[in-house]
Amino acid sequence: MEKVICYGCGAEIQTQDPKAPGYAPASALEREEVICKRCFRLKHYNEVQDVDLTDDDFLRMLNQIRDTDGMIVKVMDIFDFNGSFIQGLPRFTGNKPIILVGNKVDLLPKSVNHNKVKQWMRRLAKEQGLKVNDVFLVSAKTGEGMEEVAGSIEHQRRGKDVYVVGCTNVGKSTFINHLIQDSTGEKEAITTSYFPGTTLGFIDIPLDEKASLFDTPGVINRHQMAHYVSEKDLKVITPQKEIKPRVYQLNEDQTLYFGGLARLDFTKGEKHSFVCYFSNQLNIHRTKLEKADELYETHLGELLSPPDQDTKSKLPPLKAQSFQVLEDKTDIVFSGLGWITVPHGGVTVTAHLPEGVRVSLRSSLI
Ligand code: GDP
Repeated sequence: MEKVICYGCGAEIQTQDPKAPGYAPASALEREEVICKRCFRLKHYNEVQDVDLTDDDFLRMLNQIRDTDGMIVKVMDIFDFNGSFIQGLPRFTGNKPIILVGNKVDLLPKSVNHNKVKQWMRRLAKEQGLKVNDVFLVSAKTGEGMEEVAGSIEHQRRGKDVYVVGCTNVGKSTFINHLIQDSTGEKEAITTSYFPGTTLGFIDIPLDEKASLFDTPGVINRHQMAHYVSEKDLKVITPQKEIKPRVYQLNEDQTLYFGGLARLDFTKGEKHSFVCYFSNQLNIHRTKLEKADELYETHLGELLSPPDQDTKSKLPPLKAQSFQVLEDKTDIVFSGLGWITVPHGGVTVTAHLPEGVRVSLRSSLI
């Protein structure tokens, strides 16, 4: 097939992967001037859509930001803080002001103290070497906290450009679309602008005569569960509403299955409670450790679901990793899926996750 280029952003048109740059439905190819879906939405609806970026493209993009003057707004998913952190970002930010936006606050149980979460975000950012000027908790979906963050951006940018960065799936598009709706600026002026060397334009949203807010393409973080499951299963594992913690009192040698996507074995310790923070839609199944393997072999995709057939065909095999949880109030985090709070230290557990999906320990968020 002859190479076709989107006249909006310059990406090569493809009809296979709706999440990758240059996607257009096959029917669009019949037109004289072909435009990709992302540019189409932008042109006709002033709506930004995220696309996935390869690592090379991403590094080129960060380099572009390094050489500019302006501020950075880093959007993260508080439900998947570690998974949605952009590794390497601190090397490219220089002395630019950075604000950290924790999105999806509507998912946190109401009892959670927001100030504590912000402190915790600051601490984790610092551990990753990122110096942030301010931290916000928002829900791009409900609008909670959006006014405050918009005010802070306006104050801190000092007339300069704003770069919004984030991994895919953190809600960056929803966040920006909310900002656009709230701004009174000339909406027709939204365009894609080229930066030399990038295959993909940054979306340029004018803030005043001199400066713009740039939506940068979303980065794929391969440790996130989202990249291993089908569209349908993603809906099940992505929390839609406030998370209801589910508490299990486990004895030694008991196992919890999270659908059939992950598993936690309690291998050593006194009877103990495990507080699970996952999408309310995701089934948690308790069983005896000695029966766990057999259950997986015979009931994967049925009693233990998701995965559906589609996910099963691409899901890497589960890989076991053992941990000794020493500290009280520790979270065991399954990147992009959820976490389990262990109230008291002194237990040994084994986590099983699809190879490639990260498991980590942190001091408890809640
Ligand atoms: P992007 O890939 O970072 O641009 O993310 P999107 O804006 O496409 O959002 C990814 C998913 O998160 C979608 O299913 C959104 O509906 C959802 N989402 C975005 N913002 C929020 C939020 O504030 N709360 C909740 N609960 N979901 C959100």
